[in-house]
Amino acid sequence: MALLNILRYPDARLHKVAAPVTVFDENLKKLVADMAETLYAVPGIGLAATQVDVHKQVIVVDVSERRDTLIVLVNPEIVEATGVSDIEEGCLSVPTIYELVERAERVKVRAYDQNGNAFTLEAQGLLSVCIQHEMDHLKGKVFIEYLSQLKQQRIRAKLAKQLRKTA
Ligand SMILES: [Zn+2]
Repeated sequence: MALLNILRYPDARLHKVAAPVTVFDENLKKLVADMAETLYAVPGIGLAATQVDVHKQVIVVDVSERRDTLIVLVNPEIVEATGVSDIEEGCLSVPTIYELVERAERVKVRAYDQNGNAFTLEAQGLLSVCIQHEMDHLKGKVFIEYLSQLKQQRIRAKLAKQLRKTA
């Protein structure tokens, strides 16, 4: 297994649209294992393949306190969404920024695991928000792009300042 490099906003590669997985092979299993290792190492609660510069529809999520409940979503699709969430979200690609984005409180998701088995998952609260956030990554969308232009400008300025400090 290997730790993967996470792209940082405003990297243009975060705007690539991921393609559906068509072959469930060893390469896919390795990608999932590496993404999970990276997620736990950071640590984070969700990671989309887009964020590690692999443009396939693969997501790993673990919102459990004990960090022992990994959920792998390949080719995820939301089939039902209800309610409005009020959970602020952050992103491994946009460090230190937390914002409220309009999301459904509950979602029903259809997806495959890394072995190609189809399943349906019902999620609410943090898990629901996390899945919607990661699915946006697969479409090339970063959560702060839901905010006003002014807010996005301020965030870009803040991130640029952070980068100068760490350089
Ligand atoms: Zn993110």
